[in-house]
Amino acid sequence: MNLSSKITALDKVGAAVAKKLNKIGIHIIEDLLFYFPHRYEDYQGAVQIKELKEGAAVSVKAKVELIANRRSFRSRKVMTEALVSDESGSLRIVWFNQPYVIKNIKVGDELVFSSVVKADMLGPQLVNPSYSRASLSSEDAQAKMVPIYYLTAGLSQKYLHFLVSQALKAVKDVPDYLPNEILEEHDLLPLHDALRGIHFPLDQVDLANAQKRLKFDELFLIQLKAEIARRGRSVQPAPVLEFKEKEIKDFVSGLSFELTKSQRVSAWEILKDLNRNFPMNRLLSGDVGSGKTVVAAMALYSAYLNGYQAVLLAPTEILAKQHFDSISRLFKNFEIPVCLYTRSQFVKNIDEQNVESKKFKKEIIENISSGKIAVAIGTHALLSDKIEFKKLGLAIVDEQHRFGVEQRQEIKQKGKGVHFLSLTATPIPRSLALTLYGDLDLSVIDEMPVGRKVIMTRLVEAHNRSKAYDFIRKQIKQGRQAFVVCPLIENESDEKKSVLKEYEKLSKEIFPDLKVGFLHGRLKSKEKEEAMNKFKNKETDILVATSVVEVGIDIPNASVMMIEGADRFGLAQLHQFRGRVGRSEHQSYCFVFSDTFSHSTKDRLEFFEKNNSGLMLAQKDLETRGPGEVYGTTQSGLEGLRLAKLNDVELIKMVRESAAKCAENLAKYPLLKQKMKSFEQSVHLE
Ligand code: ADP
Ligand code: MG
Repeated sequence: MNLSSKITALDKVGAAVAKKLNKIGIHIIEDLLFYFPHRYEDYQGAVQIKELKEGAAVSVKAKVELIANRRSFRSRKVMTEALVSDESGSLRIVWFNQPYVIKNIKVGDELVFSSVVKADMLGPQLVNPSYSRASLSSEDAQAKMVPIYYLTAGLSQKYLHFLVSQALKAVKDVPDYLPNEILEEHDLLPLHDALRGIHFPLDQVDLANAQKRLKFDELFLIQLKAEIARRGRSVQPAPVLEFKEKEIKDFVSGLSFELTKSQRVSAWEILKDLNRNFPMNRLLSGDVGSGKTVVAAMALYSAYLNGYQAVLLAPTEILAKQHFDSISRLFKNFEIPVCLYTRSQFVKNIDEQNVESKKFKKEIIENISSGKIAVAIGTHALLSDKIEFKKLGLAIVDEQHRFGVEQRQEIKQKGKGVHFLSLTATPIPRSLALTLYGDLDLSVIDEMPVGRKVIMTRLVEAHNRSKAYDFIRKQIKQGRQAFVVCPLIENESDEKKSVLKEYEKLSKEIFPDLKVGFLHGRLKSKEKEEAMNKFKNKETDILVATSVVEVGIDIPNASVMMIEGADRFGLAQLHQFRGRVGRSEHQSYCFVFSDTFSHSTKDRLEFFEKNNSGLMLAQKDLETRGPGEVYGTTQSGLEGLRLAKLNDVELIKMVRESAAKCAENLAKYPLLKQKMKSFEQSVHLE
């Protein structure tokens, strides 16, 4: 028998049982051995009944004295009541709605019961405890810690223990794909021992060792994959963009504000990277409004000073336009030729933007290839329209994860041999960045410009809706403006519908006296621009929009952000919406509405209400929704993490070094190479 034998090769596994095992993802022996317990009952820690304290999570080993079913008086539901005892005393147990318990437990059984101790007038009690036999198969008789698995109906803990120990015995040598040097260097258990230890640990230390090895493996495969990808990428030399300190200093002193310390540090890191003869690959992460644009502008400027072209890509037309406006403003004293190029906007010079822009398309393409344009700002149309740069030195991408997979591929292609900077407002915990992007350097802006007011966030229940509307009206009377974000619906045409519906309601019923506009992804870019311009120029008071307002839109006069159907958005995304306000000296507000108030929704939204840090929110998102949802990282292998946590920075660093060493010499380790192949396949299927 080996790891890839069918599960039916085991003793006492017929078709019926196999089907149940399939249900929990177990098809072959390997699946079974990697089906880890979700917790353990620790007999060493077993507590005596007389020592039970209310609220403590305990395991109690006790003998069943009485057990019976009865119907509860009020709800008519089945309750199973038992009385159990050890030498120190006796204890009441009750299970609600689990009538089958009585079939599994008989008077005289000696079992371990685990749960949190409750107490009432009659003393301590356990409610719905899990239970397991004190002695399992002969071989676990001395086992002090008993594994507990998530199971499906018809499988018992005892049966699974039987199967796992059978498999561990049958598969004598689980081939270990980690090189010996690495096991030795980090004091890791051989794979077979680790698997034994994770299923049947002798004690806590044994368990910790097994976990360490298996966590190492999970992270190792992901990082080795990243490492191999990095080596595969042909790293061409990149142009040295000299750090011209004097000019940069002049640029900074010409700004209308002081850079924050982290802006300065980040800019310095970037400019240093540009000064080297191989490509920069850096991520600049900073919360919404932390001021990434000006840092990016300094990099663009540096390219210009060195006679190289630079490109700045944004995921949407609106955002590209906005970048164009702010970069042009920042550059206005330097006469740097900047253009805007999207699917429908072609602007060569900020002063010409009201001229019919189509006619500039050809001219811009020519000016880019002749090198006349120094900084091209736009959407991915800049890549796809076969534009040839004369002397590209730097590519900056804003919110890269918002681009499609193919577009990202194109960006990568274009970015070969060029310095590359990517900007993100979804803060990324350093440990995750290390895991995911083995080859990426990270700069973090972790402070806000001085003087920003904290946005006041309120979760609004349905009966307070009209109060929120009154509040918005008051703000508008004071000269401010408001956004209303509509809920996300699966397909795009519905998103449009939901905007129009909300627009009707607000413009006709709620605010007939105010000017309401709308914006959604299906509008033509001209119409989008018009809607944006009207809002910018205060011709509209309220802008009803879809998640298109999420990224980067900058309307400093807006002071209210009202989010409908907030339960359907991730926290990081809600935080982006909230970041649309609070961009000036006016106190700003964010009102959050939700269609449901389930326990988990409420928990999430209350967390949002109380937390203003994008990093905290991203971390919470990471826990509840997984990295794929938050960072668009499907196919990275992260979804497969079962034991390892992304907050274990020490372990991650250790793994990273080992992965780098192995990648250098992969041919030397055939087993590892093979394992890597099957890992990549499994990841690809995710
Ligand atoms: P984001 O990081 O979200 O892209 P922006 O670059 O759009 O943020 O900056 C948000 C606003 O803050 C802009 O209006 C910008 O001019 C302003 N800003 C940037 N840095 C500073 C600073 N150090 N002090 C004051 N205002 C700043
Ligand atoms: Mg931005």
